[in-house]
Amino acid sequence: MTNKEKSFIGLDKIETLSLLKRIGAETFRYEQIQNWIFDNFCENWEEMKNIPKDLRDKLSEKMQLHPLQINHVSGSENEPTKKFLFKTISGHSLESVLMYEKNRTTVCISSQIGCAVDCKFCATASMGFIKNLNDYEIIDQVLHLERLSKHKITNIVFMGMGEPFLNYKNVIKAAKFLNHKMGFGARRITISTAGIVPKIRKIADEEHQFKLAISLNAVTEIERKKIMSVTNTYSLNELIDSARYYYQKTRRLITFEYVLLKGINDSPSDGKKLISLLMGLECKVNIIPYNEIGGDFNRPDEITIKNFLKELRKAPFNVTVRWSKGTDINAGCGQLAVEAIS
Ligand code: SF4
Repeated sequence: MTNKEKSFIGLDKIETLSLLKRIGAETFRYEQIQNWIFDNFCENWEEMKNIPKDLRDKLSEKMQLHPLQINHVSGSENEPTKKFLFKTISGHSLESVLMYEKNRTTVCISSQIGCAVDCKFCATASMGFIKNLNDYEIIDQVLHLERLSKHKITNIVFMGMGEPFLNYKNVIKAAKFLNHKMGFGARRITISTAGIVPKIRKIADEEHQFKLAISLNAVTEIERKKIMSVTNTYSLNELIDSARYYYQKTRRLITFEYVLLKGINDSPSDGKKLISLLMGLECKVNIIPYNEIGGDFNRPDEITIKNFLKELRKAPFNVTVRWSKGTDINAGCGQLAVEAIS
């Protein structure tokens, strides 16, 4: 990889120190630059005012600072949700979402460009799999959004484009960095999976403190296979077993996400089956009325949603409903998709 393909933020400490040495900079500049990047979220070399101009010029000639550049922002200043279209150095596009709620500011970040998992209701699936994001391309989404956010980011969710557990190494590396180096509490970082069972067991064994969310969306093997092909590889039973294993190992609650699809998984009887499926598991369930993307699936009407929730209120676990924000700008859950190269 040449420097032109790599950004400064993509260099590790040894590579950075070696670069600084090559261009005649003193070692203490390393800390100063790190401070500009990770504490002040600066956008470019020019902002680094305590770095001499000739050094900034040399660095800028060598390589760009950020691995991602912002190409487009959807959503106006006062809206609760904004969507950001980024471009990588290799010319691929990806999206992240910033959401303002009462007491929290959440970023939803991508872990891959496209996705191979092929959940039938998801816009990202239509792109196919294009590439894994590097750890620094994941981190850079947060750096940009922290700079542009009206409020300090409080929560990070890996629920954007891609299946995080199919890019496990880079996702964990990025999550650890966000936790250790940038100070985001591990409990405020949630990693979501469609059900990559071996990685659910692995993250349980590795005893990370991050939160886990499982995108469940169906209550029987047959129904889940119809909408989530991953069930052909890891059955619903194996998935629930891995969730039990995760809880036994970590004693941390799992969140099950359940996208409510009209006529597919939205009847009171589905609600009843959902309760028995998760019986005995320490968890909470997050119901997400579907955000339509112009495909084969629809959001149930309000009465159907109400009846489903009425049944689910009998559950021994906590149930919340996420009325996704940003559906008008296609920033809702399952709506992220971009052209492969733009
Ligand atoms: S829902 Fe997640 S795992 Fe499924 S296709 Fe979409 S991005 Fe991939």
